[in-house]
Amino acid sequence: MVRLNELPRTKLANLPTPLQELTNLTEVLEGPRIFIKRDDLTGLAFGGNKTRKLEFLIADAINKKADYLVTGAGFQSNWCTQAVAAANIAGMKTILVKNGPEEDYEPDFYDGNHLLHFLMGAEIKVVRPENQQEAEVAAIEELKLAGSKPYHLTAAGSTPLGVAGYVEAVPELLRQSSELGIDIDYLVHASGSGGTQAGLIIGGKAFKSNIKILGVSPGIPTKHPAIDMVFSIIEQSLDYLQTDAKIIRDDIIIYDQYAGDNYGAITGAKAEAIRLVAETEGIILDPVYTASAMACLIDLCRQKYFKPENVVVFLHTGGAAALFPYKEPVGNYLKGEEFSWNIPPWSPVLK
Ligand SMILES: *Cc1c(COP(=O)(O)O)cnc(C)c1O
Repeated sequence: MVRLNELPRTKLANLPTPLQELTNLTEVLEGPRIFIKRDDLTGLAFGGNKTRKLEFLIADAINKKADYLVTGAGFQSNWCTQAVAAANIAGMKTILVKNGPEEDYEPDFYDGNHLLHFLMGAEIKVVRPENQQEAEVAAIEELKLAGSKPYHLTAAGSTPLGVAGYVEAVPELLRQSSELGIDIDYLVHASGSGGTQAGLIIGGKAFKSNIKILGVSPGIPTKHPAIDMVFSIIEQSLDYLQTDAKIIRDDIIIYDQYAGDNYGAITGAKAEAIRLVAETEGIILDPVYTASAMACLIDLCRQKYFKPENVVVFLHTGGAAALFPYKEPVGNYLKGEEFSWNIPPWSPVLK
């Protein structure tokens, strides 16, 4: 069995998050029965899947008497927002090393997650992605020299300890589905740094569920590197969690054709997914992750991939704060015009 109960944990999330049926969306897409697991409602800052990982990671930082968190990710990172919020609750300071199109990149004005990072008091350094690792290590060395105790949060929490958050989410989901009297056939979710998918797959095996986990990439990494990455996180986590669940590469399913050509690119299919879910259910998706996953779910419904009697859960992993920096292209879409841009100006892959 999994040694989840032995791991230190700090309460950051309102659990269980709701499991709700999306009857209007089901009707528009003409089946299967679609439900949504609202991990956008974890309650930390604007919510999201990183809260579950941070419950375990922050507890470890507290045990190690850390006074600073150092982490890094993309310029509009949801992970960074959740990490800073968690650090503030735990009374720690944060240094964010974010990647952008050039060193010390400054947008015209603060928006979305970048605004939230400042608002919550994070110290922010922007570098090119190829210098990110080095800049995080330098920040840690500098803090140590100044007498601080930094804690390095790596890989957007997709480490064995962070993975425990989504292993734990599986029995939560199974309890809710049995209360609702449903048997879940598929779970569709956005898969980025891989920890969420790794946790769901391990949890599925460890708690003997037959739910098929369908991961959807936000563009980068593409399918095969993403499968390698998730498999490697699973191998490390199985060891760490002392579970003997048998997992093979074929258990990892990733779709990479729904996100556009680059990480963070906006496409017609994503904009349609955002609008459809907002119009039918009043639920807000983000343009990077959950829009890719919903574009996949919509396409699989239209292709009749699911049987009408199937029960499909969409895991809402949060990120809606990232919608606002996309106000130009999403606004263009709603007005029936061409997108003003596909690749965001803060993207390091900008060409
Ligand atoms: C980080 C993130 C994901 C991906 O989760 P990973 O554990 O990194 O794979 C999905 N959706 C949103 C909104 C995220 O911020």
